[in-house]
Amino acid sequence: MTALKYLQAYPATLQEQVRQLIAQGRLGDYLSQRYPGRHDVQSDKALYGYALELKQEYLRNAPAIDKVLFDNRLDLTHRALGLHTTISRVQGGKLKAKKEIRIASLFKEAAPEFLRMIVVHELAHFKESDHNKAFYKLCEHMLPGYHQLEFDLRVYLTWRDLQARPGGAE
Ligand SMILES: [Zn+2]
Repeated sequence: MTALKYLQAYPATLQEQVRQLIAQGRLGDYLSQRYPGRHDVQSDKALYGYALELKQEYLRNAPAIDKVLFDNRLDLTHRALGLHTTISRVQGGKLKAKKEIRIASLFKEAAPEFLRMIVVHELAHFKESDHNKAFYKLCEHMLPGYHQLEFDLRVYLTWRDLQARPGGAE
């Protein structure tokens, strides 16, 4: 049985459906039918503007974001696809918190829905640091259908890994 490392937290029945799609060679079709689009957010500058727009719409009162960038080291860890950090720096005798978001570079090639999902996720962390109820409620408010998108993103990552395997499926 294939271990679906990105989908461990989901019910066994859902995981089984994904395994079946893999066995039938249909996982790629499932994804390309649902998510055929691409986006043009390809630079750190474009990503910053993209995140800022979302923040202005939903989190106007949260602290300003200092930096948003793509990071090609993030997808290697397979743990964090996005990171949000607050770095405290002393500036002119004052302690200043710098807010920063890093998004795995693989999102440049991913469907626009997945980019939005990961940016919403990291922005929501500025208000809720844990993955608790309030956090997911905020995500769902910023992006209706958030839960389905997070699941499908994990399916996409599973498919991506299969593609990368020598002689891999599909
Ligand atoms: Zn998180």
